[in-house]
Amino acid sequence: MVSKLLGIAGSGGIAFGKAYIVSEVDLSFDTYSTLPVDQEISRLHHALSQAETDLQKIREKVRQEQGIANATIFDAQILVLHDPELIKTIKEKIIEDKYTAESSLEEATSFYINLFEEMDDEYMRERAADFRDVTRRVLLHLLGLEEQSIQDMDEDSIIVTEDITPSETAQMNLKFVKGFVTNLGGTTSHSAIMARTLEVPAIVGTKNGTNKIRHGDFIVINGSNGEIHINPTDAVYDDLIKTHEEYIAEKAAWRALKDQPTWTSDQSKIELVANIGSPQDVNQVLHHGAEGIGLYRTEFLYMESATLPTEEEQFEAYRYVLEKMGDKPVIVRTIDIGGDKKLPYLPLPEEKNPFLGLRAIRFALQEPAIFKTQIRALLRASTFGNVKIMFPMIATLEEFHQAKAIVDQQKLKLQNEKIAVAEHIDIGIMVEIPSAALLANQFAKEVDFFSIGTNDLIQYTLAADRMNENVAYLYQPFHPAILHLVKMVINAAHQEGKWVGMCGEMASDLTAIPLLLGLGLDEFSMNAPSILPVRNLMKTLDKSKMEQLANHALTLSTAEEVKEFITNQLT
Ligand code: PEP
Ligand code: MG
Repeated sequence: MVSKLLGIAGSGGIAFGKAYIVSEVDLSFDTYSTLPVDQEISRLHHALSQAETDLQKIREKVRQEQGIANATIFDAQILVLHDPELIKTIKEKIIEDKYTAESSLEEATSFYINLFEEMDDEYMRERAADFRDVTRRVLLHLLGLEEQSIQDMDEDSIIVTEDITPSETAQMNLKFVKGFVTNLGGTTSHSAIMARTLEVPAIVGTKNGTNKIRHGDFIVINGSNGEIHINPTDAVYDDLIKTHEEYIAEKAAWRALKDQPTWTSDQSKIELVANIGSPQDVNQVLHHGAEGIGLYRTEFLYMESATLPTEEEQFEAYRYVLEKMGDKPVIVRTIDIGGDKKLPYLPLPEEKNPFLGLRAIRFALQEPAIFKTQIRALLRASTFGNVKIMFPMIATLEEFHQAKAIVDQQKLKLQNEKIAVAEHIDIGIMVEIPSAALLANQFAKEVDFFSIGTNDLIQYTLAADRMNENVAYLYQPFHPAILHLVKMVINAAHQEGKWVGMCGEMASDLTAIPLLLGLGLDEFSMNAPSILPVRNLMKTLDKSKMEQLANHALTLSTAEEVKEFITNQLT
């Protein structure tokens, strides 16, 4: 009998409890229908409406217990149930192919699931989880089955399951559910994200946890390192209790930093801000004590909508975020569509290399009507808070000039219409293309700030498609070439009295942070739950020592050498 299993650390902390194995329900069904078409269609409608009733109930429960931000996940699922394209496709399969409602549903939703799963963006990949969750719910109703209830537990338990859906997570009775373990998933899967939001320890991606752990086993999970201890010995148990107590003390200490500014040990002030993808994310940002928003990816507003969002819809979204954030800065990035981010209602020409194609600012400048609407909405919202505008994928100065001219022109237009616009709005660019980094000294004279987008800067510098697993080994944040580019941008900005942030994933990498601090980065923008641990780490770092560390790292020749050097110096 195994006593220890290893999975992927999904959500930090230690949890103790009886394993509660959620067994799979048999969802098999016939492909072809023997019923008349109209009966098959009415089965479909009945199941869709039962699924909606379930979801409304869950949504209300989540709204009361966890707040509106988590409840909106179910709005997205309810929208799926009403998606006219989806329903049309399901009905076509019932009518034309004589499929059952079950197989029509599964075929139609698997198209969307595959589409979203292939996207590079974590946020869009999570839309696949919503489609899967909805499909499962409708299927259960079609088959007249009931999900094993995870609501009526009466002792401390740890759920062990194949995968956990957002609606299952929402239904968990957190009085007894102390953590969960899944066979599937990774650190960015929906289940892990929800667990981090709920601050419930979780281990994902165990592959075979449901086979190795038995229902009723006493288990202890360490969501910080991915270890699962099954029926541990007294000695192991005592050790785990100690680690648990240390973790609780550490977290409590982090919470105390929530409303504190971020300082290094030698009293350098650093800005710690958050990345968001939708207005609802603001609650998380405030909960985790971010000092502002360093990247608001506005393209999701366009991608989640069935048609182009109107000026009014955009204005409302921006105003909501700005009002919630008060006087804290909010950097709104203008539309970054193209590459892996597509708009279903706006067909663009097929491109052989979409990441080198009509993306972000290139798209915005070629579609001025769309861009102007966004800028107008943003300028109208500007009096409601502290907004800064940022253009993505700037490769040339001309692009910056053109984009800025549109902002100036729209500002003038609004002023002529007697609509209030903030007197001054900082305008910056993302540095995510090597040409912008190499020419940072010229850009620095004109922009108000830079934000380095390492997700793209790495892919373009090492010529390694960020979605291609075959070249994933070249995705190297610690590559000295990247460090030199980052340094070049920071030096150029500081020379002109401007500040530099970073909003790519590298900014929350605990190993990279000492190095970035030493390179002189002013602002770090990241997923909200990373804010407090990073603020805590900053307190321990001496900026002048990190400068020496960074200077030495710049003399090294490989990413491995850089990583090894930092790890050796700091442990
Ligand atoms: C980046 O490229 O680092 C970035 C933050 O933008 P995105 O991931 O949205 O392309
Ligand atoms: Mg980018």
